[in-house]
Amino acid sequence: MFVVVNKFILAKHFDGVVLWPFIVVKRKELKNNSVFMNHERIHLKQQVELLIIFFFIWYFFEYFIRLIKYRDSYKAYNKICFEREAYANEKDLNYISNRPFWNYRKYL
Ligand SMILES: [Zn+2]
Repeated sequence: MFVVVNKFILAKHFDGVVLWPFIVVKRKELKNNSVFMNHERIHLKQQVELLIIFFFIWYFFEYFIRLIKYRDSYKAYNKICFEREAYANEKDLNYISNRPFWNYRKYL
């Protein structure tokens, strides 16, 4: 895992983006935020489990389906199963070690 600080490639409302094996964060301080970093590490794990490419296909497909349903980009983003899993478990710093394989399916 590599953590990169770059504020230019991130959209206004996002503090981080994950593209295995990289976590790109907007500000250096975020690297010390264990809950934030745990959220991003959950995405790393999800990506590996879906061979990266299928994660992104699924992620954007689900985003567009939910966007049509909710007509609200923030709500659509929040309802993506990968985000729901990450937000629900980001405070549990042992989650990644105990997490069952493909556990995002629980959040569909
Ligand atoms: Zn996320």
